[in-house]
Amino acid sequence: MDAQTFREFGKAAVDFIADYMENIRDCDVLPSVTPGYLLELLPKELQEKPEQWQDILKDINKFIKPGITHWQSPNFHAFYPTGCSYPSIVGDMLASGFSVIGFNWLCSPACTELEVVVMDWLAKFFKLPAHFLHATKGPGGGIIQGSASEAVLVAVMAAREQAVRRVKAAQPQLSEGEIRARLIGYSSDQSNSCIEKAGVLATVPIRLLPADDTQVMGGAQLAKAVEEDLAKGLIPTVCIATMGATGTCAYDDITTLATVCARHKIWLHVDAAYAGAALALDEFAHLRQGLEHVDSLNYNLHKSLAINFDCTA
Ligand code: PLP
Repeated sequence: MDAQTFREFGKAAVDFIADYMENIRDCDVLPSVTPGYLLELLPKELQEKPEQWQDILKDINKFIKPGITHWQSPNFHAFYPTGCSYPSIVGDMLASGFSVIGFNWLCSPACTELEVVVMDWLAKFFKLPAHFLHATKGPGGGIIQGSASEAVLVAVMAAREQAVRRVKAAQPQLSEGEIRARLIGYSSDQSNSCIEKAGVLATVPIRLLPADDTQVMGGAQLAKAVEEDLAKGLIPTVCIATMGATGTCAYDDITTLATVCARHKIWLHVDAAYAGAALALDEFAHLRQGLEHVDSLNYNLHKSLAINFDCTA
């Protein structure tokens, strides 16, 4: 494709998206297709000959659009809102246009620095404690992951490695394997399924502790579980609290959880994927209590902050 054709295709695609958004209210939110519908409509093999972009756009309209669940529709009331906005779409286009790889600063200085700058903006917008800012001393600072599931997995792996090093330094006679086999983590039975999954993938089993009558997990539940596990010779490693549980929007009691975590050197991660945006509001200032003792936190900008999927800070 040459630059001139790209200009035409790109502009037509922008018009296509704008038309889609302007008329989305007319679409049935849930498609009426049956499983496998697309397999019947598309060729079974990779095509040898190229097609004109006009035909591809027609195919998208005819075959793909009818199979889409319209998360952006004002009539969509399932799960939670997904962020999407025209500026975010254009941002994706520009990022794709540069198509840089950000392994390290030199691979594209603006890529790394823009992430640092924007993550600090966000941390300040949420009024997070200073240790979440790149601009303060210490190892902290936000990064962007694709999804909350990835962010939680990264947090559990970081907690795991920190625990392994700490225990190895204190008890050098233990092999790394022996230490790893004894690591254990905690979360509430109201937490998102991605937490348990992160535990499986990071080989740190996560115990789901029963939340109280208001669906909240606090220090009392955690302290009891930790004592039980210490008695079994296990190594409490990580606790994942939720701010805004997916099912009920309950906020775990960070302050009392943090006290228990500090006592036992447990990494405290907060999954604020769904309702963390409330942190930005003065009327929810009380939700920030205890965050000064939290090691890491994730928030999905693709939920209520009008950023396209996928973007988790
Ligand atoms: N955590 C909470 C509290 C959520 O509400 C969700 C999604 O609904 C997730 C984690 C998983 O998010 P993602 O799809 O970005 O992995």
